[in-house]
Amino acid sequence: MRNTFLVFGQPLIEQAEIDEFLDSVRKSWLGTGEKVAQFEHDFAAYKKVNYAAAVNSCTAALHLSCLALDIHRGDEIITTAMTFCATVNAIIHAGAVPVLADIKPETLNIDVEEIRKKITPKTKAILVVHFAGRPCNMDAIMQLARQHHLYVIEDCAHAIESEYHQQPVGTIGDFGCFSFYATKNITTGEGGMVISNNEALIARIKTLALHGLTQDAWSRFSDAGYKHYFVVEAGFKYNMMDLQAAFGIHQLKRIKLYHEKRQHIWNTYQTAFKTLPITTPYPDEPHTKNAYHLYTIRIDKNLCGISREDFLNEMQSRNIGCGVHYVAIPQHPYYRDTYHYLESDYPHAIKYGLETISLPISPKLSDEDVQDVIDALQDILK
Ligand SMILES: *Cc1c(COP(=O)(O)O)cnc(C)c1O
Repeated sequence: MRNTFLVFGQPLIEQAEIDEFLDSVRKSWLGTGEKVAQFEHDFAAYKKVNYAAAVNSCTAALHLSCLALDIHRGDEIITTAMTFCATVNAIIHAGAVPVLADIKPETLNIDVEEIRKKITPKTKAILVVHFAGRPCNMDAIMQLARQHHLYVIEDCAHAIESEYHQQPVGTIGDFGCFSFYATKNITTGEGGMVISNNEALIARIKTLALHGLTQDAWSRFSDAGYKHYFVVEAGFKYNMMDLQAAFGIHQLKRIKLYHEKRQHIWNTYQTAFKTLPITTPYPDEPHTKNAYHLYTIRIDKNLCGISREDFLNEMQSRNIGCGVHYVAIPQHPYYRDTYHYLESDYPHAIKYGLETISLPISPKLSDEDVQDVIDALQDILK
């Protein structure tokens, strides 16, 4: 058994980030400045999109996206029952009602037929999540959205590298929202980004992200001379710091390398687990690129002879940190009690949430680490 604990989702931080971070520190320019502008530029180029606004989390990105689309109190936004709570909280804080749709059990992504059933005259937007890095069925979603005049926001927290029919995800709907949280595919510690091809919408996002100041207020972070700034709406404090962008600029340069490393781990797991009594991820759909953010298996007690909870403890006792992504939204007390979701409306999301375990898939893992994970699984299930 391994003698050190394998931390789940540990990022790989290299010398270039450390040097860039220290450069900001030495220059005493810690807040929003030229490094944030550079990261926005590089990220937009990477995603082949015209505009990007860096913020301090994907949660902020999602919140501002809902607000910028003029969602009003009582409007409904349809999202998936299988996501991180931040997706749903963003809808709530924008004043809208989160309406949930169940997932497809194979892809774990929102089921388009379930979206269709949930559309009402109050529906204003669909907020999709490209779960674990697998792109949603965007052709069908965009067609449905156009038919009903709905906005589309893409939660790409798992899906920085993902592509759907050769198109980068996050550029298909009105907004794409990204996370650079410590466990995500690239990291700035905390951080997020909104992308769009709509210049006016990104200008609105930038205003909302910085107290509601006019967009040129961002240039007060430069030495272009003194400028008065004016508040045009009551905004938020959601801007990214140069200290964070210092990480992002260099992490982005290694995004392809990290993706290849995770794909290799993914393939190694798929081969190793073929004969085990667990459900492994569904193969990638044609003409899509999976970001391989999470490698999730399902532990069904009837097949494995062990419950998911016991399995998690067994992995822990073998010094391997796992994750659970996620308990389904209707099972959280706040959402259940406030919105009266019925578990029977979301059977696939509920069942998946009770069975799922995420295995380590960070580019930081050595071949020995990956083998330790495989050995532990085989030992527990033997
Ligand atoms: C991580 C995550 C978020 C929130 O990202 P933060 O940058 O931590 O705010 C939102 N949605 C999903 C699906 C996530 O996994």
